[in-house]
Amino acid sequence: MPLPLLKKVLPAQTRLSLRKFFWLSRSWLYLGTNVYCPLCERSFRTFLPFGKERRSQALCPRCHTLERHRLLWLYLQEQVHLQERSLAVLHMAPEPIVQQRLHALPNLLYRSADLTSPVAMDRVDLQALPYATASFDLILCSHVLAHVPDETKALQELRRVLKPQGQLLLQARLHPQEKTLETPEAVTPLQRQQVYGQSDRFRKYGQDFGERVAAQGFTVQAVAYANSRPAEEQTRLGLGLQELIFVATHPAHEVA
Ligand SMILES: [Zn+2]
Repeated sequence: MPLPLLKKVLPAQTRLSLRKFFWLSRSWLYLGTNVYCPLCERSFRTFLPFGKERRSQALCPRCHTLERHRLLWLYLQEQVHLQERSLAVLHMAPEPIVQQRLHALPNLLYRSADLTSPVAMDRVDLQALPYATASFDLILCSHVLAHVPDETKALQELRRVLKPQGQLLLQARLHPQEKTLETPEAVTPLQRQQVYGQSDRFRKYGQDFGERVAAQGFTVQAVAYANSRPAEEQTRLGLGLQELIFVATHPAHEVA
């Protein structure tokens, strides 16, 4: 059956389950010990290439996570110590395997949220979150902000629902140019496709991403977490040296 027809006939959750089954059934082809995915906790002979520019050693053959997902998971375990703390967590645009791992931790009060994703627990608009002020200790927002029309509103909402001393962890695709590209004339999906390379993007972030978050009242630290590890471990875990984790806190709420 052609893919567009399958999309119409099968509910999103069923398609996701079928996709997961397909990945699982193929993952044995890559059995080995060269690389290790900390999210699905399996070893393989290689990670797979991924992306328009075909990054090598990017995609886990079993759980289909990328460099940024593995890096964030390690950071959460090793720096946030999320397996040992009682935390209220909001996970925007949840990646299925990350959601599965977080939801399974009994010490977390976990919610996932998205505008359209069938795997998210709450259907929300990031520009108008339905949660009370100061609800969450930790918010994960990976590769989401570029897809939100009003970035300022979204960051203000994230700041509002974050508890005192809470942390907002952000990841974004950053382009080499210094300034973020935003073209007000690109209003249709086709125009956005032409300008940003993706029809559902509203900007193309440059190296000023952290400054843009800071402009909305956060203190921001860009953490190159992959670089903090030995080279052989970076390779074995497929962490990708370009990935940064932006740790954002309220200035008034920072831990002394
Ligand atoms: Zn995996």
